[in-house]
Amino acid sequence: MESLAVESHSHPRRRATANQRAVLHVLGEIDRFRSAQQLYVLLHQQYSLPVGLTSVYRILHTLAEDGVAETQRAETGEHLYRIRNGSDHRHYLLCRHCGRAVAFTVPALEENAHQLAKQHHYADVTHYVDVYGICPGCRSNFEGRQ
Ligand SMILES: [Zn+2]
Ligand SMILES: [Zn+2]
Repeated sequence: MESLAVESHSHPRRRATANQRAVLHVLGEIDRFRSAQQLYVLLHQQYSLPVGLTSVYRILHTLAEDGVAETQRAETGEHLYRIRNGSDHRHYLLCRHCGRAVAFTVPALEENAHQLAKQHHYADVTHYVDVYGICPGCRSNFEGRQ
């Protein structure tokens, strides 16, 4: 049985548990964004690791907080995760079927956002610009079935 997690705003222990290593392992295997639910299924089906869904959510949250994982929102608003492979600010073109991601930046957008914030005296501004579609791999899968 798991003990109840106590949410704390001070940094909890960052000891890598077996569950955390398992989640990291699965995240490291794929370069695509996955939801907690999808990772949970992968852990069970492919690795037979009995990690509870709540634990998966908590571990992913911690990994994201620590900057180990990066998060992205799905079109549905659900959080998606993958291992961070760069610290730069980026946007993603995401496949809505498989989570394959292409990173891109638009310098003009960054500049505009910066100017807008400055003009209205906003601090600590962030922005999200995501583009969703169907990747070539998924497109050929669909076309192949017809
Ligand atoms: Zn795809
Ligand atoms: Zn940006």
